[in-house]
Amino acid sequence: MENRKYIELEEMILKELSALEDSLDSIKNTSKVVELDQQLIGRLSRMDSIQDKEMTKANIVRRIQKKSQLIEALKRLKEKDFGFCIDCGEEIDIRRIRINPAVRKCFSCMQK
Ligand SMILES: [Zn+2]
Repeated sequence: MENRKYIELEEMILKELSALEDSLDSIKNTSKVVELDQQLIGRLSRMDSIQDKEMTKANIVRRIQKKSQLIEALKRLKEKDFGFCIDCGEEIDIRRIRINPAVRKCFSCMQK
């Protein structure tokens, strides 16, 4: 892969990582606010509150997973073996990588 692409992808991944950090922070802050509210509203909304908490947890987990995938991708990017399919070794379409930098397989291997 050309250097220009590496630089572009590195910037993209870093930007995505910091956006993830921001959203993680804001989710954590919002859930604190929700907890305070729930104490005031009382029992009736406890079920909702539990559901909200589960959703928040799932949201946080999903973002943390995405974050570690991106960090992994960044590491691979630096090792220059980035952008090649782990199954067939073909170069992965740059358009696919732009959509998801954590992608590890080419289009045809993904279909298998
Ligand atoms: Zn492949």
